Amino acid sequence: MDITRIREDFPILGQKVYGKPLVYLDNAATTQKPLCVIDAVSNAYRNVNANVHRGVHFLSQQATERMEAARETVRRFIGAGSTEEVIFTRGTTESINLVASSFAKAFLKSGDEVLVSEMEHHSNIVPWQLLAERVGFKLLAIPVTADGLLDMEAFRNMFTERTKLVSVAHVSNVLGTVNPVREIVQTAHGHGVPVLIDGAQSVPHLPVNVRELDADFYAFSGHKVYGPTGIGVLYGKRELLEKMPPYQGGGEMIAHVSFEGTTFNELPFKFEAGTPDYIGAVALAEALDYLSAIGMEAVDRRERQLCSYALDAMGAIPDIRIIGNASDRCGVVSFLLGDIHPSDVGILLDKLGIAVRTGHHCAEPLMRRFGIPGTVRASLAIYNTEAEIDALVAGIDRIRKMF
Ligand code: PLP
Repeated sequence: MDITRIREDFPILGQKVYGKPLVYLDNAATTQKPLCVIDAVSNAYRNVNANVHRGVHFLSQQATERMEAARETVRRFIGAGSTEEVIFTRGTTESINLVASSFAKAFLKSGDEVLVSEMEHHSNIVPWQLLAERVGFKLLAIPVTADGLLDMEAFRNMFTERTKLVSVAHVSNVLGTVNPVREIVQTAHGHGVPVLIDGAQSVPHLPVNVRELDADFYAFSGHKVYGPTGIGVLYGKRELLEKMPPYQGGGEMIAHVSFEGTTFNELPFKFEAGTPDYIGAVALAEALDYLSAIGMEAVDRRERQLCSYALDAMGAIPDIRIIGNASDRCGVVSFLLGDIHPSDVGILLDKLGIAVRTGHHCAEPLMRRFGIPGTVRASLAIYNTEAEIDALVAGIDRIRKMF
């Protein structure tokens, strides 16, 4: 893989910060955008901007065709069976809120149980908590081992006749652990329980096929997969989506409205109230095509190679503690340096031009599990290099010596 060529596709990477070359290692928060994505946004506004689905005029039909072609690109990228099962949302957070709200109305009652895990992002905890209060179901967390793995034995023992849904991350945004989601789905399905997979940190890094996983719901964000902000995806199995009520009301999601009663549009539009982010959808498709041209197997291989390079180099720094020790991991290395506060490490790395994230990474229960206030997190993307990891390691070592 020619990383130098790939880097040329990302204009922002050529920047200097504080006079030093930018080393961008905050990719789990958001990835940078290739020119083709930036151009797709600009071209769409220049040439085919009109509201979709409602217009008889030329531009509206063009914009609609592009948006629906984008849906087909997403379908293909995640291996869904039909575009009716691909819902555009604002991102992973909205996708999970959609399922939580609509699934709860259709299927959950007081006394039921929903399983999440201790390593979830707040986006896969708080929507369930908000509803649990209202509906009266219980939210239970699958424990995480000291190595940063899901405790699968505990998971298997958590099922009761009250268990109605499992909702877990495919890849942890803190530990980089790739969870055994196929096994999780099989176990849950053995109890007749559907599974939502939070794919925010997997779709950018691994080949994902929702049908091979047999996932009932799968959520991801455009901006973490080299696409624009404000667009994301919820995949859902048609038989479940058909039984679920609309999430929001408004235009697009209706068939007919009267004061006597309203009927709803078919899938996927039933879940897309209001003017959708049709430009974002088109640009997201461009990002997915960009990745497909490289090949997700190749992306996965390359990033795993870079991740083990980072783990080896960082692991050799005295006083470093790497959080999480999964053998199947990707994209993320979280660490603590002696007793230096993570935000001090982050601020000093920034002065060297190195962008990392510090804090609890929207995973406070996981921080509590490890008894730590937060971590420093370096997260990788396809354009990162061994030289950037070397710069990070040199930076960390310098900070260690300063203290
Ligand atoms: N889930 C995971 C595992 C994440 O890492 C993130 C973002 O960091 C989210 C959900 C939320 O994504 P978004 O803010 O794009 O909705």
